[in-house]
Amino acid sequence: MPTLPDERYQLGRIVARTDFTPELWSIRVGTAEPFEFRPGQYATLGIELQGRVLERPYSIVSAPEEPELEFFIEMIPGGALTPHLHRLSKGQEILLRRRPKGLFLRQGLDAERAHLFVATVTGIAPFASILRRLRAAWPTHLRILLLQGASHPDEFGYREEMEQLELEVPGFQYVPTVSRPWTAVDWRGEVGRAEDVLRKHADLFGITPEEGRVYLCGHPGMISGGRAVMRRRGLQDREILEEQYWPDGKEPNGAAP
Ligand SMILES: Cc1cc2nc3c(=O)[nH]c(=O)nc-3n(C[C@H](O)[C@H](O)[C@H](O)COP(=O)(O)OP(=O)(O)OC[C@H]3O[C@@H](n4cnc5c(N)ncnc54)[C@H](O)[C@@H]3O)c2cc1C
Repeated sequence: MPTLPDERYQLGRIVARTDFTPELWSIRVGTAEPFEFRPGQYATLGIELQGRVLERPYSIVSAPEEPELEFFIEMIPGGALTPHLHRLSKGQEILLRRRPKGLFLRQGLDAERAHLFVATVTGIAPFASILRRLRAAWPTHLRILLLQGASHPDEFGYREEMEQLELEVPGFQYVPTVSRPWTAVDWRGEVGRAEDVLRKHADLFGITPEEGRVYLCGHPGMISGGRAVMRRRGLQDREILEEQYWPDGKEPNGAAP
């Protein structure tokens, strides 16, 4: 039986929890030892179960300057880890690998380009991290459009924060889009899956083959669909970066693709 924490894992404590829907929640995790990372990276979170660590990667929502780490998590019914994570409340402990990983936003943002961030639900996490960092000192010419897709409006856990940023920063635009609008009759925003409305918003925002760069994060179907749309728009593959949350073609038990 391993003795934890050890040289690979440290203990984190959940200091806050926010539930957005029965399956979607965020946690803020305090660590006793420093955890250094760049926006766009992920932490590996786990729990010890029957003498073994069950762990999965989770993109970090918080900016590196924040005192705690924040995560935005979707519970996958029948999944190995998320039903256990979902039971953890404020004050409880979680394991995390000592080192962050991931190269998603490693290039940094080029202020001369127009950036298109595309996320499905929890895929907003790495974008929230870099936007929180930029908020303090937004580069004058930097332009970012964040397009976020979800089935229902209540899945936009960071909508208020993004709408506030949009009011503060002329170079930032946020477009949430819902694919099942009939479940929210008062929804007045964009309708359709992110990859279906991507071309329209990329054109309106001025994401051109010469000046545009695209970042896709989350659902594998959105990523392959989004990449195809942007290729047809003339963008080179090197200008389309991605962070895919699970393998293509795999869906949890009973979930609609
Ligand atoms: C780099 C990276 C960053 C990630 N960041 C996040 C994050 O910020 N928030 C988050 O909630 N998840 C994130 N994930 C997904 C996460 O690592 C787990 O795969 C997810 O939480 C399911 O874990 P599980 O053990 O409960 O399910 P598993 O038993 O591992 O998987 C069950 C099934 O669900 C599929 N699946 C996994 N995630 C989803 C999903 N969101 N929607 C539909 N099907 C899914 C799997 O392919 C599998 O078929 C990230 C994955 C990667 C690779």
